[in-house]
Amino acid sequence: MSQRTRLVRAKVAGSIYLGERTQADGSVVPSWSSTPEEVLTWLCDGFRFRFNQRRSTRSRYLTCEDRDGNRVIVEDPDHNPVLLPLGRRVDDLSDKQARQRHSHLAAMPSRVLQATERIERTDWFAAAKRRRTNVARGRRPGAMPGFRSKRDDARFVCWHNGGENAIYRRCGRRSGIVTISGQNPRNHKAPDGTIRWQIHLHVHLSQPIRPYTSIRVNLTRREVVFVNTPLPITGRVRSGEAIGLDRGVVHTVADSNGCFYDAPDTRIISSKIAWHQRRMAKSRLVAERRDRDYRGSKRYQAHKAGAARLARRQARIREDFAHKLSNALVKEHDFIGIEDLRLSSMTKRARGRGAAAKSTLNRLLQNAALTRIASLVDYKASLAGVHLVKVDPAYTSQRCHRCQHTVKENRESQAVFSCRRCAWTGNADYNAAVNILEAALERWARTSAAPPAAGSDADGGPAGSKGETDPRKGPGAPPGGTCDEPRTTRVAA
Ligand SMILES: [Zn+2]
Repeated sequence: MSQRTRLVRAKVAGSIYLGERTQADGSVVPSWSSTPEEVLTWLCDGFRFRFNQRRSTRSRYLTCEDRDGNRVIVEDPDHNPVLLPLGRRVDDLSDKQARQRHSHLAAMPSRVLQATERIERTDWFAAAKRRRTNVARGRRPGAMPGFRSKRDDARFVCWHNGGENAIYRRCGRRSGIVTISGQNPRNHKAPDGTIRWQIHLHVHLSQPIRPYTSIRVNLTRREVVFVNTPLPITGRVRSGEAIGLDRGVVHTVADSNGCFYDAPDTRIISSKIAWHQRRMAKSRLVAERRDRDYRGSKRYQAHKAGAARLARRQARIREDFAHKLSNALVKEHDFIGIEDLRLSSMTKRARGRGAAAKSTLNRLLQNAALTRIASLVDYKASLAGVHLVKVDPAYTSQRCHRCQHTVKENRESQAVFSCRRCAWTGNADYNAAVNILEAALERWARTSAAPPAAGSDADGGPAGSKGETDPRKGPGAPPGGTCDEPRTTRVAA
């Protein structure tokens, strides 16, 4: 995780060699600058240039269309795919060679040039992995990344490397300065004869900066991001509590203690976004009637920006909820059981659409919310040493958590569960969450190297039932006593 700060202003100490510039009359002259905007743009351009040089060493498959019009990979006689370079030219240069060959890289700090290698590599292999995952899940793989364009955000990365460059200094409660330093080449000293130069980035922050490994400057968005390792969950005490989580019908998440958590309602924002989108469609229609490009319309751009702003706001609200809830869950429990949404989404998709379209959409949204919470719980749990077990949710909503009786008819309605055998009646989501916790504890006891409750399987429930084996002896004493009825309806803070 990383810390985002706002770039307030930049100052340059010294004069920086920006390379050779071609003038209007065709003559080539060296140029220096101490204008912050010009210097930052030069850094971003240089970073992109070097990134693209590294990217040019990657290759792509040669494809062609077969008789049915599908794109297929061309293979050589040995059935190996034919590879082509990604761009028109391959620039396989070291940083030193690149500096010598391109004058605008000559004064670039080495911690900026070096960062391109890692950034390019991560970008490339993350995309390759994403494609493999997509294919494995039956989705379209998506394209591999290409070169960075001038139209993309102007940005660069500078390594910190334990204090070698991009040094941060705090100078107020909410402000600090990052200093990036470098030097001009010896044959292109600044006009006043100096070699060294510095750029001071004044940033506005909302929390103290933790130790970081690099900074990312996005000039277009005016932000500086400190890249650092995730903060371990602080203030956690071993509670011995275990909890199961289920996605709810009415609430976003239900837990096995009978608590429900609701994601903030952002329907108002959604409707505002839809309004902007309707206006966009209208101005598009008007522009087309007048035979103009709708993208040039000020009104269209204003609505587009408005919709994007609201969508970002909505995403922030959801993200805030997911972070707060996952934090609280990891902080208060030593064991978390959660349904494996990857398994359930597969089975759910097979259902029809039509009349159930709205509830399907709702379910998708809740799935998305729980997926996000699950992924946050996952990484926070691994930091805090909390056991997280994912279980197959099959039948967890139909099985009675008391007597293990599993029939479809137990589910009286979407929200109410009423057991046909033992007549337990209560909230269906709570029942499912308890089942998930029990399945998770059982699975954990089976897979962990030294099951803490080995041999105590005897006190199982009714004949042939699974579950209820030893949930009370798992990683600690789980939810106090028997809690059959949902106790509290807690809406997460
Ligand atoms: Zn029952």
